[in-house]
Amino acid sequence: MPRESFAIGPARVRAGATRDLELPITRLITGADVSLPVRILHGREDGPVVWLNAATHGDEVVGVEVIRRVLASISPRTMRGTLIAVPVLNVLGVMSGERYLPDRRDLNRSFPGSARGSLASRIAHLMMTEVVAKCEVGIDLHTGSDRRANLPQIRADLDDPRTRELALAFGAPVLLHARVRDGSLRHAARERGATVLLYEGGENWRFDEWAVTAGTDGVRRVLGALGMVDGPEEPGGPSVECRASGWVRARHTGFLHLDARLGQQVETGERLGSVSDSFGKTLRLVRADRTGIVIGRSEAPVVNGGDAVVHIASTEVR
Ligand SMILES: [Zn+2]
Repeated sequence: MPRESFAIGPARVRAGATRDLELPITRLITGADVSLPVRILHGREDGPVVWLNAATHGDEVVGVEVIRRVLASISPRTMRGTLIAVPVLNVLGVMSGERYLPDRRDLNRSFPGSARGSLASRIAHLMMTEVVAKCEVGIDLHTGSDRRANLPQIRADLDDPRTRELALAFGAPVLLHARVRDGSLRHAARERGATVLLYEGGENWRFDEWAVTAGTDGVRRVLGALGMVDGPEEPGGPSVECRASGWVRARHTGFLHLDARLGQQVETGERLGSVSDSFGKTLRLVRADRTGIVIGRSEAPVVNGGDAVVHIASTEVR
């Protein structure tokens, strides 16, 4: 007996079919309609319903390319379950390369949203009702913000066994235990009972190939662990599990020279770089404030005193 059709928006997607949809969001001041592009792959055989989304922050585009590559590698004729892809969730932010929406709201603080709220709130509501409510697992793809590059990592509630299992399957170099934040997609989706992984990798407004590759391989491994696609996928990892992290801040204004690389193991007090004046005179050294792994670093040439410059995930159990 063939699998039942999948209902989303005004559409019914047949088993074994791919369907592209434009879900209406609002109308611009010019009168043009704004809609959310969504692709549904409804597999021939039964299996879990999973969503992938990118660009919750409009300048974080690594995940857009991750989703493109994942979609190019699977077919609804052979896969099990259903995949809903939302490559540009913050559709207006992506148009202008902006993190936030034109109404200055952070979409990732606007969940679960409402049908009559601000623009951000409406996009959040649409995502929740048409996508998240139909899924049991989701992966939210992010990058660093504001000239910061992130080591490929999964941020998730590692105390939840199901979440931890999928995070391990992803196989990123670091798994960072992160409590959910109010208003985030991850928080709202958890409340709905979905298992959510948040991927961080690369820098904003760039296609960092190493972050795209790690993200694509990780997503495919999770789909494999869920039984949606067949291997043989190379296992990822090994992943280092971290329970806490913190930023080292610049202690002087000046030009930043960082020696610390993403993924580097550092010890408390170790030199990570320096801040210098315009002639190269060292003003302050940047030193590790904890023992751990460098999971994020500033790519900015100039920093102000107090700016976050190196993100270290603790590997010491406290
Ligand atoms: Zn983000």
